[in-house]
Amino acid sequence: MKKLSLILLGLGVLFAFPTSVFAKVKIFACAPEWGALAQEIGGENVDVYTASNANQDIHHMRAKPSLLAAMRKADLVICSGASLEIGWLPILLNKAGSASVQDGAVGSIMAADYVPLLEVMETVDRSMGHVHPEGNPHVHLDPHNIVLLSKVLADRLSEIDADHSVMYKSRQNYFATQWQEAITQWESQARGLKGSSVVVYHKSWTYLLNWLGIETVASLEPKPGIPPNAAHLASVLESIEGKNVKAILVAPFESEKGAKWLSEKSNIPIMKLPFTVGGNSQSTDLKTMFDNTLKQLTNN
Ligand SMILES: [Zn+2]
Repeated sequence: MKKLSLILLGLGVLFAFPTSVFAKVKIFACAPEWGALAQEIGGENVDVYTASNANQDIHHMRAKPSLLAAMRKADLVICSGASLEIGWLPILLNKAGSASVQDGAVGSIMAADYVPLLEVMETVDRSMGHVHPEGNPHVHLDPHNIVLLSKVLADRLSEIDADHSVMYKSRQNYFATQWQEAITQWESQARGLKGSSVVVYHKSWTYLLNWLGIETVASLEPKPGIPPNAAHLASVLESIEGKNVKAILVAPFESEKGAKWLSEKSNIPIMKLPFTVGGNSQSTDLKTMFDNTLKQLTNN
């Protein structure tokens, strides 16, 4: 009897909800920054699955069963593109992606396709390491690119879920207005950084540094994707001698070993920037992630 009443209660709850509850757009986001943006624009009409967290190196993920299961349900896939996810995303799409989320379809957004790319290579060969030939794929750290992507997201969501198109567009409008104000504030806060220089671990920060006018004097990786080694670190130390380097930038998922060695020898501080949403405890969404990044860069 108790069981039956529970079942009836369950059915009651089921029918009490408006049908829209069951029609949420399922979004597969490769990385936390895209998951966060999808949530900003989609609000309660989307269900966001984020495939990685801030402590994972997105270059080196695997097509795990849990990711396959999430891909199977996806109505929209949003990732960085430009080969960043080449080791795992194509496998997921092949094995589990519906036709509507394949490359070029309405449910596929590769961020790099919608923003001006930096570091595009004319020629590429294997000797250059794990390079991204189409250009640097870490596009989310220029906040101007975030606005461009918010528009693409609103357009696609409107196409996929036309019933809520007005809502997606008004959320995007609101987001873009707030975001523009934040950009103005960040840019004035960062004015003093123009012309300064940093050492990076990997070229994860190219868009951020380009936006703020900060120069990269060296990378701890001898080649993209190749971990730092003693000989390369020694040559970095030599190359920065006498230069006024502000910090050694390291992402949460990058090893601090090489950075520590260089920092000890050179007295240049290591700066662990969040890189993405969740990269430290202060970076709970896109806005606070940029707030924290600017705060760290300008306080130093
Ligand atoms: Zn990279």
